[in-house]
Amino acid sequence: MSKHVRAVYPGTFDPVTNGHLEIIRRARRVVSHLTVAVFENQEKQPLFPLETRIELLQDCIPANEGIAVESFSGELLVDYCREHGIGVIVRGLRAITDFEYEFQMDHINQQLAPDIETIFLMTTHQYSYLSSSVIKEVAKFGGDIGTMVPPAVAKALAHQLV
Ligand code: ADP
Repeated sequence: MSKHVRAVYPGTFDPVTNGHLEIIRRARRVVSHLTVAVFENQEKQPLFPLETRIELLQDCIPANEGIAVESFSGELLVDYCREHGIGVIVRGLRAITDFEYEFQMDHINQQLAPDIETIFLMTTHQYSYLSSSVIKEVAKFGGDIGTMVPPAVAKALAHQLV
């Protein structure tokens, strides 16, 4: 892939997990700039407010790495891409259950914006079972999430769930 590709990795990130961070790291190997776009997503009734989800991501991403964390709400992702000169959408794929939703979204985006490509990165084996919702569930009942999320997230979850 060309090194002059700007991409966006959209998601709710409620909260960011090691699975997300792995996708961010790998996506950055093939694009020159990656915007992690944090979707407000009131429909999902997030545990963490948008500002906290952004702060936690910024905490976990090394500075000056060609990665920016931005908020995103109230418009189509393809419109956001056009406004920001972004030509590629990155999504992570875990189990087959992700596939159907991602397949549908990709087809809609292809129709809305044939000039924007979506690329899918398969999760690495060790993170295939990880999701923000599973982590919140485990944390709620006092399970050890130390290998699933960065320390700042584990701390924020402990604080939020007491
Ligand atoms: P959304 O609300 O868009 O599903 P998420 O924050 O749950 O937002 O996920 C954002 C993206 O990261 C999605 O493409 C999702 O499939 C991917 N993702 C989430 N967890 C993992 C993981 N453990 N491994 C790989 N990709 C993941």
